[in-house]
Amino acid sequence: MPESKVLCWMCGAHADSAEHKFKKTDLVRAHGKGPYKEDSALAHVVAGTQKLIQGSNSASLKYQKNLCSRCNNAKSQPWDRAYDQLIDWVLSNEADVLRKRFIDFSQVFGRNFEDAQRNVYKYYAKSFGCRLVDAGHAVPADVVQIFDRSHFQTALRITFSVNEDVLILQKEDRDGFIGQSDMHAWLERSRLEQVNGYQSNEHVSWFTAHFWYGINPDGACGSSWVADNQFVYLGSVEPLTPEQREEVKSRAAAT
Ligand SMILES: [Zn+2]
Repeated sequence: MPESKVLCWMCGAHADSAEHKFKKTDLVRAHGKGPYKEDSALAHVVAGTQKLIQGSNSASLKYQKNLCSRCNNAKSQPWDRAYDQLIDWVLSNEADVLRKRFIDFSQVFGRNFEDAQRNVYKYYAKSFGCRLVDAGHAVPADVVQIFDRSHFQTALRITFSVNEDVLILQKEDRDGFIGQSDMHAWLERSRLEQVNGYQSNEHVSWFTAHFWYGINPDGACGSSWVADNQFVYLGSVEPLTPEQREEVKSRAAAT
């Protein structure tokens, strides 16, 4: 039987495994085991890019197979676990985090925060890579090489921000607001086939992780992080137009 020509973007083996677009634990935490519908009109207004979600095992929740099962399972398990722990911590300390507007990874993970925050970073880098491959672009070599290393240099910066518009929503509604933005490529003005950088983000509720590859992060979106700092300072974004914000406010007041 001829093998698929698609190769795992992390290790180059035969790609036989599909990554979830949205993390299953995020969906189950917010919605139970499904089936999911676009049941929140409010979240939909905020989202713009919200995808139709049909159930936590639905094929539409997955990318095409672009990883091998080893990279997508055993290898990435510690990254998934660290990410889950971070999101759980952020949501259960929500009031405090929103007041202080920073995250101290030693509070989230305890003494082993350095390993754990590196795993969080690898979780996000994997998510960014899968999203990039899904958009038909190769994952840059300096991102591919981080996964087996504990020290690395890469042009992928992450920042975290508070989406203030999501805070308008009731807690039950906003906790179900899980998604990702489109992937934006920054092109060379004189040679449009040359990509200089990529930008995208993903979020659970108001907690938004921004990806900046090859471009300077917007300081309003938070302090720049490459798993190299115990603290991250949260930025503040308000993606809605004033008209959209008024619409969300009046709908939120009506529920
Ligand atoms: Zn692999």
